[in-house]
Amino acid sequence: MPTLMWFRSDLRVTDNTALWHACRDASREKAGVVAVYTICPDQWASHDMAPVKVDLILRTLRELSTELGTLNIPLRILNAPRFSDVPAALLKVCREVGAQAVYLNKEYEINELRRDEAVAGALADEEISTHAFDDQTVVPPGSLRTGEGRWYTVFTPFKKSWIKLLEAQGIPEALPRPKKQEPLTITSDEIPLRIKGPFMTFDPWPRPELWPAGEKAAMKRLSRFVEKSIASYKDHRDIPGIDGTSTLSHHLSIGSISPRQCLHAALEANSGKLDGPSPGATHWISELVWREFYRHLLAAYPRLCMGRAFKPETERIMWRDDPEGFDAWREGRTGLPIVDAAMRSLLHTGWMHNRLRMVVAMYLTKDLLIDWRHGERHFMRHLVDGDLAQNNGGWQWSASTGTDAAPYFRIFNPISQSRKFDPDGTFIRRWVPELADLDSETIHDPSELPLLLRSTLKYPEPIVDRAIVKDRVLAAFQAIKA
Ligand SMILES: Cc1cc2nc3c(=O)[nH]c(=O)nc-3n(C[C@H](O)[C@H](O)[C@H](O)COP(=O)(O)OP(=O)(O)OC[C@H]3O[C@@H](n4cnc5c(N)ncnc54)[C@H](O)[C@@H]3O)c2cc1C
Repeated sequence: MPTLMWFRSDLRVTDNTALWHACRDASREKAGVVAVYTICPDQWASHDMAPVKVDLILRTLRELSTELGTLNIPLRILNAPRFSDVPAALLKVCREVGAQAVYLNKEYEINELRRDEAVAGALADEEISTHAFDDQTVVPPGSLRTGEGRWYTVFTPFKKSWIKLLEAQGIPEALPRPKKQEPLTITSDEIPLRIKGPFMTFDPWPRPELWPAGEKAAMKRLSRFVEKSIASYKDHRDIPGIDGTSTLSHHLSIGSISPRQCLHAALEANSGKLDGPSPGATHWISELVWREFYRHLLAAYPRLCMGRAFKPETERIMWRDDPEGFDAWREGRTGLPIVDAAMRSLLHTGWMHNRLRMVVAMYLTKDLLIDWRHGERHFMRHLVDGDLAQNNGGWQWSASTGTDAAPYFRIFNPISQSRKFDPDGTFIRRWVPELADLDSETIHDPSELPLLLRSTLKYPEPIVDRAIVKDRVLAAFQAIKA
């Protein structure tokens, strides 16, 4: 009887916990493994999944199918428009191949949890067992608690506890590729080029070369980053004009690389230590911990998956209704060069530098006083690495509705951020060509130029008066205390 391996956001063969266990257990039983992936276009649309991400998933599935082929594991593709269609689709394939067990790596978002409960129930009714594994993080959600047994809600103590646990228990090894099995008579399905659901069509994304797909591409990127850039990561990570970060988030979000593989690579560059001699590697590990922190939070607080604020009292903030302001932000025509450059880069590439994600999120929520949920959704609709836990965490942190532990109210001045992190205007020049000829001083704030000169630039005037921003947002946050 073959065993079913259900792939979801773990699209790799090496260091895949559920796949490794499925193959080991099946070979003990002298059985084979059949892989399945469920395509859920309506559910994806309702989760605001970006076309660029769907395209990455499809291209990654093609790579995965090839990798699985070298192990004689066929990959079946199931169509299940919504999560509610998944139990029947899986049962059908279990019956077809005679599977008695389904292996999977856990997902922690609320709709995914409910789907998995329904699947496990439907399978159990037919005496098919489900085997679920923690695989998305180095330390499984829920295994770190405060002295009072609560989930951590502040990053720094979470990180200390994460390091303490790994120093005490050792770093989990990355699992090897499973062994090749005897061939089965089941053949792999074609991976579609586009996905047409009843309500939404995902067409191929026009610039796939920006996001090479599959675990080989991910490992290549990781090796190149560790070899060339990890040492200078701490100094370069905030400069969007420099290619100083790993750009691995899209691979992490769909699991074409594992966080353990990333951590081991960083440890090699850091004399085997979590907090070691390389400031760059130590800092990069800290970013991997942020990723773990937000995933733990999502597992602990299901309301984060339901559009609710982490700090409940901030639900009372009177956000402004400003469709024109929101459109200008989305389209990169706010009249603030660093914001416009960042927003245009997102639309064109499907990705945005972390420093700029913070700058534009602060601008939307503090300068324009627009509800963070609008920004969160726009990001999900355009990001190749769109990930509910990280995106929600980043947005709520920036909007001061989340876990920012700063004892004061954090507002970035986007012009100061621009001068500090894009000092020569390299990034602005790349994405706002109207301003390419301005000098490195005025490029950050062309509104300082004389009106006559400004009118020749064909660049919008600022849509918000910076003089009122601080008072307006502070008043909105003060009002909820009354
Ligand atoms: C408003 C906002 C929205 C965001 N939305 C997402 C999202 O949808 N998906 C996503 O993966 N990340 C998101 N981030 C986090 C971060 O911006 C990206 O992970 C990072 O820019 C990816 O680039 P990189 O792979 O080169 O990161 P590196 O700097 O090389 O970091 C390595 C890895 O660590 C993790 N990481 C880095 N910074 C953060 C961070 N601030 N928070 C959580 N994890 C982090 C990522 O997995 C990243 O790939 C968001 C941040 C903000 C402020």
